[in-house]
Amino acid sequence: MWKKLIALVCVLILGLAGILAINTIRYSAAPEPLAAVELPDVDGERIALQLSKAVQFKTISFEQTAQSERPADFQNFVDFLDAEFPNVQAATEKTMIGELTPLYMWPGSDRSLKPVLLTAHYDVVPVANASPDNWDYPPFAGTIADGQVWGRGTLDDKGALIAMMHAAERLIGQGFVPERTIYFSFGHDEEISGKHGAGGVVKYFEQQGISLAWTLDEGSMVLQDVIPGLSQDVASINVAEKGYATVDIIATAAGGHSSLPPRETAVGTLAKAITGLQAAPMPGGLTDTSKDFFDGIGPHFPLVQRVLFANQWLFGGVLESVLSKSAATDAMLRTTIAPTMLSGSSKENVLPQEAVATVNFRLHPRDTIEGVLEHVHDHVDHTGVEVSLRENSAAEASGVSRSDNAAYQLLSQTFSQVFDNVIVVPGLTIAATDSRHYSKIADDSYRINPFVLRGEDIPQIHGANERLSIKNMVLAVQFYTLLMQNSGA
Ligand SMILES: [Zn+2]
Repeated sequence: MWKKLIALVCVLILGLAGILAINTIRYSAAPEPLAAVELPDVDGERIALQLSKAVQFKTISFEQTAQSERPADFQNFVDFLDAEFPNVQAATEKTMIGELTPLYMWPGSDRSLKPVLLTAHYDVVPVANASPDNWDYPPFAGTIADGQVWGRGTLDDKGALIAMMHAAERLIGQGFVPERTIYFSFGHDEEISGKHGAGGVVKYFEQQGISLAWTLDEGSMVLQDVIPGLSQDVASINVAEKGYATVDIIATAAGGHSSLPPRETAVGTLAKAITGLQAAPMPGGLTDTSKDFFDGIGPHFPLVQRVLFANQWLFGGVLESVLSKSAATDAMLRTTIAPTMLSGSSKENVLPQEAVATVNFRLHPRDTIEGVLEHVHDHVDHTGVEVSLRENSAAEASGVSRSDNAAYQLLSQTFSQVFDNVIVVPGLTIAATDSRHYSKIADDSYRINPFVLRGEDIPQIHGANERLSIKNMVLAVQFYTLLMQNSGA
């Protein structure tokens, strides 16, 4: 009897090994079709100089104020674009939106095709500490050194803007006319919600009855050494962007003098609620957009990880727990929970009548604000706190754009043509961009800048020593040039 059972177990193990092996072989990456194409020659010195000039305008985001109080650098930057790119001025129609966001229309030869929109923003975040200890070169000097253009806004997002303009300027100079009408819009208030810039552009398109085939905006880059275990670069063409919700959690109590405290003060109650909430992450996993991303990169991993990705029916749980351990991959799998602000009594010896914790959520496209609130209530209500949504800082996640259409195909092909040995996958933007406005008037919205970004460079975005290599600027001009040439597709 034992012999039979052992034989049966052996057969099962062999069978399982066979299934794992077959799934893994099937899962392996198909060879990328090589579309050989001649890349345009780009004058690196010239484009570096243009970006350097762009950085020198201190276009730091400002809340909407009277015209007389606005920093002159915004208008000066728009004037600089007119002077620096005369071919674009001549071939396009410019409309100013929200007074400071220029929208250019470059008419296509086939007016029956829906237009497309290439977009970037030229406002930048403030510099917290410009001291030489923090910045190797001053943040608004536009220094060109060590093969890089240094300064605030190079990566986010003047680099993309200048590369787009440079590509268009060059093509117009060669007599090129796009098949499809191409719009460019350059927002002036992206870092503070994009309400007047991108929001105004959307209103303008709605008034004119114009709807777009697709839009391309920032939101990701060509990632190098960002995903552990993956040796190839990944162009994550982001097809969606996370939503946003901020919730106040409020504990109340009688107050009084701290020499006569109850067993639990409002701060203690609040602490329990927050600890409980942090211990209960929103459900996530390898579904929806997260599945598409990891399925795209899975076949390119070394064998062991490939066996795991190819056999998610068996190892899905293991994979999820591994991916959840890194903040970067966890944010792609689920709605994240981040307690960010705290307040209690105003004096050390006064018991708080109210203690408040502010919690910021970033919503995965599978979740809704209502669902997030339900989750919060489920995990904090028993502690006796109140929950209040900040209505004016809440936005649902975006819709999910297609990755099986001609527009995605064009973007994907262009990345393969310009960047060596790159894996192209649909991904998810975990922060907020102007695309949440633009996606309202387009069939599909994509979010990626054509720059190679290494993991160690990520802190430069909104941080110190922000810079962009001249090599990256050249790649970006090549990318936008091919994209504009083929945008009729
Ligand atoms: Zn940006």
